[in-house]
Amino acid sequence: MREHPNLRVVDHPLARHLLAGLRDETTEPERFRYLTQRLASVLVLEATRDLPTATATIRTPLADTEVDRLAGNVIAVPILRAGLGLLTAVTGLLPDVQVGYVGLERDELTLRPSSYYLKVPPLDDRPVLLLDPMLATGGSASFAASLLRDRGAVNQTLVCVVAAPEGVERLTGDHPDLRIVTAGLDDCLNDVGYIVPGLGDFGDRLFGTFDA
Ligand code: URA
Repeated sequence: MREHPNLRVVDHPLARHLLAGLRDETTEPERFRYLTQRLASVLVLEATRDLPTATATIRTPLADTEVDRLAGNVIAVPILRAGLGLLTAVTGLLPDVQVGYVGLERDELTLRPSSYYLKVPPLDDRPVLLLDPMLATGGSASFAASLLRDRGAVNQTLVCVVAAPEGVERLTGDHPDLRIVTAGLDDCLNDVGYIVPGLGDFGDRLFGTFDA
């Protein structure tokens, strides 16, 4: 699984350190948010590694020189609500980013996902960063990626904190061109769909809603 061609597990000591703090059950929401933002920056750097650039000539205080600048805008689409935790890192690193939102819910009887909210700028062939911290079964991420594909997205990267092998299989099976960037590839899902060892419910730990 580590070898899957569309999966990139960021192997950096800082990423492992930040992820360790997120996994720790004693980490409180304030620190959880701080660690999420830091780790998301590392993940976004990796997810944007292949963005096209355009060369220009500028003048430094000393000489003319050639520089590279990003060519075109990136679109970030957090999946509500946990994906919001990754957004600040994206807007901080990519000042010209455009942001859309996807809200998904699951029918309690059929278990099928549907969207209760979808607002995205024109996608064309621009790079899309789909933000969802926990790639568990892959059902939500795959559904969201289909919604964006139907609106013209042809270049999608899922940025997630932890992925389960089941989710990677499902998502790359449904969307063979989609790339996944994560800080951890975990062992499996448990019988209620949580990633093991994982870090628990990301949204609850981010927003402190343990009793909601
Ligand atoms: N969503 C979470 O927040 N955690 C999991 O382990 C799986 C899905």
